[in-house]
Amino acid sequence: MKRNVRVCPKCRKELTVLGYSQIVRNFQTFRLEKGVAHYEAPGRVDGDDVGEWYCPECDTTLFTNQVDAEKFLQK
Ligand SMILES: [Zn+2]
Repeated sequence: MKRNVRVCPKCRKELTVLGYSQIVRNFQTFRLEKGVAHYEAPGRVDGDDVGEWYCPECDTTLFTNQVDAEKFLQK
């Protein structure tokens, strides 16, 4: 059986996984309790619709959509 080899185009290392990162904004409440600041757990989290798939070896962004990332791993 042919071995599937996926190689990062930048650092040429073999990859079995990709990294994924997404910028997320946490909405919290802020209040003072006896003069001490309190941040309360997020009530709402908003993120970009799409994050970035990157090489876990060199941190280079390789894909900006899931379809391309899937194709890469399915090679
Ligand atoms: Zn790389």
